[in-house]
Amino acid sequence: MTDLPVVIGDIEKFSIVDYPEHIAAVVFLQGCPWRCPFCYNTSLQKIGAQPESDWTEQKLLTFLERRKGILDAVVFSGGDPLVHDGLPDLMDKVKALGYKIGLHTGGFRPEMLKKLVDKIDWAGLDIKAPLEAEKYAKATGGYKLTENILQSLDILLTSSKSFECRTTCDPRLLTVDDIFTIALTLKEKGVKEYYLQKYRPIPTDKNTTEEECLALIENKELIDFLQKSFAKFEVRK
Ligand code: SF4
Repeated sequence: MTDLPVVIGDIEKFSIVDYPEHIAAVVFLQGCPWRCPFCYNTSLQKIGAQPESDWTEQKLLTFLERRKGILDAVVFSGGDPLVHDGLPDLMDKVKALGYKIGLHTGGFRPEMLKKLVDKIDWAGLDIKAPLEAEKYAKATGGYKLTENILQSLDILLTSSKSFECRTTCDPRLLTVDDIFTIALTLKEKGVKEYYLQKYRPIPTDKNTTEEECLALIENKELIDFLQKSFAKFEVRK
């Protein structure tokens, strides 16, 4: 995975939920190495695919030039932005326009995160499952290199950057005990912000019930533990 240029899959021009307490544009980059069973962005998964949108790097920069004073931040999301070798350069150009830089990532490529961590102002790191090879593979469609996720977490922890960890609570993949395990790992590492995200069944999932989706995120013992363990914790529905 080398020399991949930045390919923009789509852009959300105005968001108040993708960067804490900031108004942001979200740049969805094309390409992701994973195949999470709960993915809502499957059109962005294929690496090297030509996206349906006509967004180019120049069109993005022109758009951001015009939005100065309206938007505070630009969040690079995906796919997984760490796929793209040209990302640090694009971040520099966006930063030069005066924007704060956000990053949404699964942390699969720590060497790229290391290159750009000084450029970002905030990051959201997905922790898909307990950091055990088989469980991670189940949640990501085959990815077992949990060491890479731990390295990415360590890069963020040792930086001065604000960041959160979050887990999508898909009851087909995770149990309450799994969330306890993830939370214990994060707590021991010194993570301050952790969020649970409700699973919204993807269109092809006709079996998972609302009750099952809520069972994980409404488990009282779990929620009490998470509230005590992190300076900031919330369930996102
Ligand atoms: S990491 Fe994100 S974009 Fe990639 S497959 Fe998983 S949910 Fe989809």
